[in-house]
Amino acid sequence: MSRKFPQLRRDPIIDRWVLIAPERASRPGALVAHPDELPDHDDDCPFCEGREVRTPPELLAVRPINPRPNGPGWKIRVVPNRYPAARDAVGSHELIVECPRHEVSLAHLSAEQIAEVFRAVRDRMRSRKEEGQWRYAQWFKNHGTAAGASLSHAHSQMICLPDVPPIVQMEVDAVNQAGECLFCRLGRVEMETGERVVFDDGEYIAMAANAGRFPFETWLMPKVHQACFDEVSDRGIPTLAGTLRRILQRIDQVLGRPGYNLILHTGPWTQADFHWHFELLPRITGIAGFELGANIFINPVPPEEAARQLRG
Ligand SMILES: [Zn+2]
Ligand SMILES: [Zn+2]
Ligand SMILES: [Zn+2]
Repeated sequence: MSRKFPQLRRDPIIDRWVLIAPERASRPGALVAHPDELPDHDDDCPFCEGREVRTPPELLAVRPINPRPNGPGWKIRVVPNRYPAARDAVGSHELIVECPRHEVSLAHLSAEQIAEVFRAVRDRMRSRKEEGQWRYAQWFKNHGTAAGASLSHAHSQMICLPDVPPIVQMEVDAVNQAGECLFCRLGRVEMETGERVVFDDGEYIAMAANAGRFPFETWLMPKVHQACFDEVSDRGIPTLAGTLRRILQRIDQVLGRPGYNLILHTGPWTQADFHWHFELLPRITGIAGFELGANIFINPVPPEEAARQLRG
């Protein structure tokens, strides 16, 4: 299908607009891959195995070798953030250390290790939910300096909040007011048209976001309706891990190891219905005045073109 650009597009779920403007991509320096600028080695890394004393005591660990906490012999560790963005009544901030040996990229871990990461995230969400004090858990990953990472060792973060964040509440309201799940509908529409589908493993679908804010923005979600990430079964996790790994590796191949943010939107702990999903936001373009002023993002790569390249 041929399209005329530039084109204003509305997000399929909420009232958010982007300008898809491919001619912007031909400006000098418009599309800059920021290869992972963080060091591959760090002799002073507080997350490496053997330096457990450098972090607060662990909240959860996968320890097939050494069951004693806060020493070596683990595959995954979850620890409180020593420098939390949120505290006590405002929120609770924890870090998921994704591998024992120094590795900077989730994409380089085995699918089995990535599955351990997601099992740990799911189990931490279940525990925090039971505490009854929080309404929402925001899991996210900042990879590379362009995405705001300060420590290179592969890790992700989870902040529990006493209220549902506004952007998630907007998505939740849209789903609950539509009379049908908008994410289920989105998945059906994308599978029918096919042009933005990046990967379909049968259980999960990855697609270039129709109104992506950033070039190559990719969404990943279960094909069958499921509100909360903490409902994911042990059977579903290996497939999810394999699919995410494949997408991250394709992003690395096509864009040259860019920085990215990977965020999880999950159902709030308030009984409202939802459909959990990941949003992967490669950071190869900056945010400038128009984005901040009008809250309209300019994306120089049509999502259909991004999907075509990611499919390879
Ligand atoms: Zn390390
Ligand atoms: Zn759904
Ligand atoms: Zn979302």
